[in-house]
Amino acid sequence: MSPPIDQLPAIRLKELQSRMLSWKQPAYRAKQIIEWRNKGVLDPQAMRNLPTPLQDRLRVEIDCQPLTLTKRMLSADGTRKYVFSLCSGKMLETVFIPEAGRGTVCVSSQVGCVLDCAFCHTGTQGFEANLTSGEIIAQILAVKQDLRESSGNGSDNCVVTHVVYMGMGEPLANEQGVHNSLDMLLARDGLGISQRRITVSTSGLVPAMQRFGEKFPVNLAVSLHAANNRLRDELVPINRKYPLEALRKCLDDYPLDRQRHITLEYVMLDGVNDRDEDMEALASFVRPARERVNLIHFNPFPGTHFQGSSKEHMDAFAAGLIQLGIRATVRKSRGQDIMAACGQLKAETQAA
Ligand code: SAH
Ligand code: SF4
Repeated sequence: MSPPIDQLPAIRLKELQSRMLSWKQPAYRAKQIIEWRNKGVLDPQAMRNLPTPLQDRLRVEIDCQPLTLTKRMLSADGTRKYVFSLCSGKMLETVFIPEAGRGTVCVSSQVGCVLDCAFCHTGTQGFEANLTSGEIIAQILAVKQDLRESSGNGSDNCVVTHVVYMGMGEPLANEQGVHNSLDMLLARDGLGISQRRITVSTSGLVPAMQRFGEKFPVNLAVSLHAANNRLRDELVPINRKYPLEALRKCLDDYPLDRQRHITLEYVMLDGVNDRDEDMEALASFVRPARERVNLIHFNPFPGTHFQGSSKEHMDAFAAGLIQLGIRATVRKSRGQDIMAACGQLKAETQAA
């Protein structure tokens, strides 16, 4: 079997330099290619300072564009959703969320997800594939390229400053792809994004969380959604394997420095996890010195039987938590009109 072909979005400067050497090209060519790549230019033909034969060889010997953009949608609130296809034909989605002074890319780490949380659209799709680090980084590069093309002026709310692993899939169930993509995000020859501006969200895969915490000083978000085992078993079925006691211990032992935050995500489901007793259970689970709670508006999708709590009730729930000494915020829902909000991602046009 021939070794897998390198993907340009994931290639490191050193590797590319030795590749140039073996192609009898000067080493500085590697730097030029990396500069284009990090700006989001992946088509060798658009790398204007390279000689044509090198552009051709790059195209043949390196997988320069592992993702094909198949659809792009723009929300009334400025959120952008991108649908990409892999060479296998499988589809994935990426979201860009502009806010004052920052721009966040929400990347997918898998096509579908095996974990089947009751309230999540991605979960209804089942698991299809792990994404490689190149396919994860390519999502960010494609957003960069699109923003440059459509704004032209690089205004400050139209650049990528933050990355969250909150798209399709469970990042910690794809450790190889996610770990390697984080190396690339953080590296100086990569995208050079600060660790404080990166957040990985997990539904609570305890052993993988431990490995992750030791390796990456980025922010962690944990999908809690219920603070008693009976309810969490239903909502987040991985709880049957790693129940709240195991999750609590893992969080207590999680390495935490001043740069890093732990957020507990809690999607508010009407009559399910938004009652007074749920608030009390949540308040006793949280360690206020280390953790904050982010309440998420439930985003509906076709076929779901859940209803979101009202905006007023969410505000009251947050105020109740604050009174109990917990830092709690309500997450603003973005891009609902294009099905780009949390939990709404599911490839619309799945390969047969
Ligand atoms: N698999 C990871 C990351 C992807 S989901 C995880 O579960 O944490 C990102 C966030 O969206 C998670 O907190 C998830 O629980 C939440 N989410 C899933 N479905 C949702 C929905 N329909 N409405 C609102 N949030 C949802
Ligand atoms: Fe998977 Fe996260 Fe959706 Fe659960 S909420 S099914 S872990 S993507």
